Amino acid sequence: PDGSEPHDQLVRRLTVLSGPSGVGKSTVVAEIRRAHPSVWLSVSVTTRPPRPGEVHGVQYFFVDDAGFDRLVAEGELLEWAEFAGNRYGTPREAVIDRLERGEAVLLEIDLQGARQVRQTMPDAQLVFLAPPSWEELVRRLVGRGTEPPDVIERRLEAARVELAAEQEFDLTLINTSVQDVCRELLTLMSVH
Ligand code: 5GP
Repeated sequence: PDGSEPHDQLVRRLTVLSGPSGVGKSTVVAEIRRAHPSVWLSVSVTTRPPRPGEVHGVQYFFVDDAGFDRLVAEGELLEWAEFAGNRYGTPREAVIDRLERGEAVLLEIDLQGARQVRQTMPDAQLVFLAPPSWEELVRRLVGRGTEPPDVIERRLEAARVELAAEQEFDLTLINTSVQDVCRELLTLMSVH
């Protein structure tokens, strides 16, 4: 009756997928994009250069440092973080528009970003994607073969710290199968 219930209802639909680098977050998101094209996915802004096959506006909006500075200064980002030497952020407006329409929103962001969302949108559900084991995480990080050794080393260091953050999350999904994780995520988002 006081009008707070619909708001809670809408905010609850923001789902955040986070976890260590290399755990397979982007693979999960790519699978949702492939198998469930009707699910809207937030497209982040980054100063990282595109990897082969990445398309501006699909995986990321690729911007230079000045462009990123401007988005931060104008308050256009819901959250942003520096990760392994590059900056990444979530464009605010598209996310808020969809939440206000009651649509499910999924953010795939790093741990620092997840913590910011925890502060600014306390009702968001934070999902931690965990590797089946540390050995498997190292294997995946090295095996991607897209990053030079110093970048892999920085990402491994970040992953060690990030694994300890599991306790801050509402729930954990273990990435044994991409399909299983997708199914569980979509159920959490009430998307069928
Ligand atoms: P990658 O360079 O491998 O695509 O992403 C590196 C890290 O940045 C991943 O952990 C990914 O989840 C995170 N990331 C991607 N987009 C965003 C974003 O908009 N905000 C934050 N905080 N992290 C992001």
